[in-house]
Amino acid sequence: MQFVPAQDPLLRSPTGGEAAPSPHANALLTLAQWQAACDGWPRGVPVAVALENTVDVTALGTLLERVDLLVLQFPKWTDGRAYSQARLLRSRVGYRGRLRAAGDVIVDMLPLLQRNGFDEVQLRADQSEAQARKALHYFAGHYQDDVTRTPVKDDAVRAHRTPGFEQRVAQSLQLLHQAAQAHPGRIVQATSLGVEGMVITDLIARHGLPVAVATLDTGALHAETLALIPAIAQRYGIRVERFAPRPLDVQRFVQEHGPLAMRRSVELRHACCALRKLEPMRRLLQGRDAWITGLRRDQSEHRAQVPLHETDHDGRAKYYPLAHWSDADVWHYVRVHEVPYNPLHDQGFPSIGCQPCTRAVAPGEDFRAGRWWWEQDGRRECGLHSRPQPLAA
Ligand code: SF4
Repeated sequence: MQFVPAQDPLLRSPTGGEAAPSPHANALLTLAQWQAACDGWPRGVPVAVALENTVDVTALGTLLERVDLLVLQFPKWTDGRAYSQARLLRSRVGYRGRLRAAGDVIVDMLPLLQRNGFDEVQLRADQSEAQARKALHYFAGHYQDDVTRTPVKDDAVRAHRTPGFEQRVAQSLQLLHQAAQAHPGRIVQATSLGVEGMVITDLIARHGLPVAVATLDTGALHAETLALIPAIAQRYGIRVERFAPRPLDVQRFVQEHGPLAMRRSVELRHACCALRKLEPMRRLLQGRDAWITGLRRDQSEHRAQVPLHETDHDGRAKYYPLAHWSDADVWHYVRVHEVPYNPLHDQGFPSIGCQPCTRAVAPGEDFRAGRWWWEQDGRRECGLHSRPQPLAA
């Protein structure tokens, strides 16, 4: 959940109450203004529309397809009509842009807002982001489990020792030792800073393995994810190498296609992943013979065949030391070794990627269901881990 200040500096309403305002980036229009202006609105110029809570969103047809941000109104916190609008927009209309709650939004509403598909909240002038985040964290962990979309897991359910846990840890460690020995000075752990990556970094640090640690800073990560970089330095004394996309590539892409282009088509999503992830990944792997990642077999059907090691498309050795671990194994290790992890995992985010492309999942939903959730293709991958040929044993 993102929080924006009461006076959103990014949005500008048209002046003079024009019926059909001239296009400008990040305009905030009324529905009537958008109806009048949408035909002439150039593609790639982002637009936000404020909807009254009396509007029947199912009657709007394709009018909202090109809207990047819908601002739904809560005139009083007791008036919940915008919840229904949000739910219909997500489930029936298929709206893929951002949904913002504005008006008399109080912190108790945050879990329900998440559950109904909101991405962000416009804070009142008397509310601070720090308070809102604290409240969200509190509710996610302690209250209203029946209404939150967050599958708050009891720690004992999420983290428990299953038979063979110690052997799996030992096997992973042996694999890491072998990998470090086979590729001295030329091996890297590519971590997304998710919990699996944190476990591997802990194993590397705990056993003093000569393996570099690197991440892709796509420019669209959650603040909670980025906060793990200094946390790793502080806890383990490891400097995480950051590989960011080329600024000009990002700037051109956003100017041409808008900030939420990835939700418009699979092609644009792949184009965004190509410039924010695949290109920096090529640089991350440059000069390296081997890499380590945290994919596990039970994360998705697409990952069910992940081996312990293989050769990637470029002939590098690729290691998956946690391939055979379960979710319970990962969280048991975290608990036993007090590994730092992303607090979003406690708020229903089993898999965490870029902020615009990750949402919390509902109880029972697939591990990867919160990634690019608007796409029909169940694979939900970005191309970083396309599967190569297995190594000879
Ligand atoms: S995950 Fe989303 S924001 Fe991140 S690179 Fe891919 S499309 Fe772009």
